Amino acid sequence: MKIVVVGAGIIGVTTAYELATRGHEVTLLDARGGAGLETSYANGGQLGASEIAPWAGPEVPWLVLRWLGRADAPFRLKLKPDPEQWLWLMRFLMRCRKSARAERVMPNLALALLSQSRMDEMALQMNNDPIRYDERRDGILQIFHRERGLRDASSSIDAMKGAGLDQKVMSARECVDLEPALEPAFAKGNIAGGIFCASDRSGDAHKYTTQLAERAQQLGVAFVSGAEVTGFDSQSDHITGVRTRAWTFSADAVVLAAGVHTARLAQMCGTRIPVYPLKGYSVTLPTEGIVAPQVSLTDEARKVVVSRLGDRLRTAGTAEVSGYDTEIELKRARSVLDATTDIFPQMRPVEDQAEFWTGLRPMTPDGSPILGQAGRFSNLYLNTGHGSLGWTMAAGSAVGLADVICGRVPQMDLSPFNIKRFSFT
Ligand SMILES: Cc1cc2nc3c(=O)[nH]c(=O)nc-3n(C[C@H](O)[C@H](O)[C@H](O)COP(=O)(O)OP(=O)(O)OC[C@H]3O[C@@H](n4cnc5c(N)ncnc54)[C@H](O)[C@@H]3O)c2cc1C
Repeated sequence: MKIVVVGAGIIGVTTAYELATRGHEVTLLDARGGAGLETSYANGGQLGASEIAPWAGPEVPWLVLRWLGRADAPFRLKLKPDPEQWLWLMRFLMRCRKSARAERVMPNLALALLSQSRMDEMALQMNNDPIRYDERRDGILQIFHRERGLRDASSSIDAMKGAGLDQKVMSARECVDLEPALEPAFAKGNIAGGIFCASDRSGDAHKYTTQLAERAQQLGVAFVSGAEVTGFDSQSDHITGVRTRAWTFSADAVVLAAGVHTARLAQMCGTRIPVYPLKGYSVTLPTEGIVAPQVSLTDEARKVVVSRLGDRLRTAGTAEVSGYDTEIELKRARSVLDATTDIFPQMRPVEDQAEFWTGLRPMTPDGSPILGQAGRFSNLYLNTGHGSLGWTMAAGSAVGLADVICGRVPQMDLSPFNIKRFSFT
């Protein structure tokens, strides 16, 4: 089949790669000058199966109210006269229930675990020439400032264990023994304890995306950069072509994997999807000569994640519902840097070398991606809406969707990710 994949972020590139391994003639289109230049560029780096719970939960409305008016609030709402934003927010608020969150945990976990095993399999297949992406297999440690937070989070460990994820509760001292760079925070009494998941990993999503795009091209994928998709041609229930300003690419099947822009593209095909941007920030610091952490961390109170990427340390966090704007607001970027130097005061000497970045998470209200056939066109597929988990779930989403497109039974049940779960489609 001739398949056009729209979007060369981590999701589109993994999809193109999987389809090419199955012998299809794949064209990968991206509006930008290369792969992985939007949200997959400088994310938090965590490949965290232990971090898959949706963000919508009973505590969120209260936190938003508490943080109202604070420019550095971890979660911020900037309301716009935009029905898309209001509708998305309404759906998100409706998911702020304990039961709604719980409903999504197991499907998300299964997809994250499938991703891990697919990445391992791919690494074995590329054994003599692996992708180099500053991968670390030291696990992810969630740290808590208060006993209560630790107790609440520990309550789900048994259920997760049943689904194949091993996590361990640790005392504050055990956290420092595991990650000595936490010693200063421990000395200040800022750690009550932690939860450690040894099988979690971290790595640079941009490095992985660009190298996998090259591997995909070696398998025959035609990667066309600078190709912004502007429309689609169709005949009865089939998309027949994908239009860019310069060319039209004929297609037997089309996959939309354009991150936050997928909603607009899907709408051109008559399908509405509730994917809206949640803006976040990251800051990257050099680690040379500094006792920087090796283990990837999540600070539950400050709402940031920290990953060691070779000789760099990346911290990412904050969420803002404010539309499609990607301007760096220094106060918010600074709050992520301040969180880093709060946890690791030893990083202070390199503050002025900080690289700030902002990206838009393609978020669904329920915190799970949308995978599978879409709307009235039988050959139109979606792989999008991975929100804060696109790096963690990319390989599994791609392998699952590629199986669906090829008419094979996927390795896991993909029905929880079907667009039909949103009632307005
Ligand atoms: C601050 C932050 C921290 C994060 N941390 C983590 C983390 O630690 N772990 C994790 O798993 N995830 C994390 N994420 C989430 C993760 O980065 C995203 O889920 C993932 O990058 C989304 O990938 P994507 O391919 O869907 O989108 P993108 O990477 O944005 O790719 C979409 C591509 O589509 C292209 N495109 C758009 N419109 C068109 C068009 N009309 N025509 C052609 N091309 C088009 C764009 O140019 C772009 O290249 C984080 C995100 C942020 C913002």
